[in-house]
Amino acid sequence: MTTYWCEHAWLPDGLAQSMLIEVEGERIARIGQGAQGSAERLAGLTIPGLANAHSHAFHRALRGHTQAGKGDFWTWRDQMYSIAATLDPESYLNLARAVYAEMALAGVTCVGEFHYLHHGPGGVPYQDPNEMGHALVRAARDAGLRITLLDTCYLTGGVGTALAGAQLRFGDGTAEQWAVRAEGLAAAYTGQHDVEIGAAVHSVRAVPPEQMHVVSEFSHRHAAPLHAHVSEQRAENDACVRMYSATPVQLLHEHGALGPRSTAVHATHLSEVDVHLLGHSRTAVCMCPTTERDLADGIGPARTLFEHGSPITLGSDSHAVIDLFEEARAVELNERLASEKRGHWPAAELLAAATSAGHASLGFPDAGMLVPGAWADLVSVRTDSVRTAGTAGAEAVVFAATAADVHSVVSGGRRIVEDGRHVLGNTGQALAEAIGALR
Ligand SMILES: [Zn+2]
Repeated sequence: MTTYWCEHAWLPDGLAQSMLIEVEGERIARIGQGAQGSAERLAGLTIPGLANAHSHAFHRALRGHTQAGKGDFWTWRDQMYSIAATLDPESYLNLARAVYAEMALAGVTCVGEFHYLHHGPGGVPYQDPNEMGHALVRAARDAGLRITLLDTCYLTGGVGTALAGAQLRFGDGTAEQWAVRAEGLAAAYTGQHDVEIGAAVHSVRAVPPEQMHVVSEFSHRHAAPLHAHVSEQRAENDACVRMYSATPVQLLHEHGALGPRSTAVHATHLSEVDVHLLGHSRTAVCMCPTTERDLADGIGPARTLFEHGSPITLGSDSHAVIDLFEEARAVELNERLASEKRGHWPAAELLAAATSAGHASLGFPDAGMLVPGAWADLVSVRTDSVRTAGTAGAEAVVFAATAADVHSVVSGGRRIVEDGRHVLGNTGQALAEAIGALR
């Protein structure tokens, strides 16, 4: 058992001073007020571990390379495919381990990895068809994060078109063949509680509607999360409506893919009917504002969705930035720009999006809260840095702190970040080496 003393802690009913948190194994055993005594000191403000609900680990290799020049989502995608073409299980392990260490340094204790780079060049399966997935699980474990591996069904290159080029590596042929491989992956991690195997419909561009139910059924069979990219781009909506006379949300609804276990990622360009379908089905919506602004996607109706019943979660998606405080405040600041009004989101609700709601959407409803019985994920944020000095409360982390203010991270009872350094060593160097090896 380890006891931590928190100078300040963000508990479910608000901020508390001088709190002792007893950790037994992976869980919080007890919480109460008290003096530091022999407990390990956590200075500043301690919050629950953050959940990065939407990640494509390999996109990190694009940071600082795709921001030059003109273009849009579709030109960015071509550059992303050229990185996808180069990875193999070993280089992906090295890259993902460094990316997950970067997440740990930012206070993330669980990642939702939306994984579609399944096969070798040309779409030829590896000897173990889940070798790439196993590399991602190992990377998360090495970095000290829990992982929800969202095994992604990706069958077509666009609405009604075949896979081509690097996309061939994403495809399993049919949804039934996808399910056979995904069942193998789920079987490999049965009973391992730091890993959750979920499912994903890449998008309406990549899974024909008549095959979507196979992915939904996998999620229902395993009571596992089901994620999908939804209406990130107007062109996707246009192609979908032209082909099927329905919006992407309507298609997902018709094929059993909405509900409390589901997450719609982006949900940027929605109709009023879409908002009702998502909200009334309690489908979570994962906003990824730093990616959405980097890719010129647009601003989704986060507050309206929340008020209709959709929990909001946060993801760093393409990893243009890995900083969930930045994602959280961008949700509010985007609404200000769109509405010319301030004060849509209380900071505590944005912090809940980054913690409890995110973990729940990844199949860990018992994480993201500082309460006895929950996963022992403790993230401590400096309140004396040049950014945070003089701030207070949940507003301090949501509107002032950056990932660089995280100085200590305990993940599942294990200390993985101490004094701003990851236990694996120099994460910047690991990233540079892993990305350098691809170019
Ligand atoms: Zn994505």
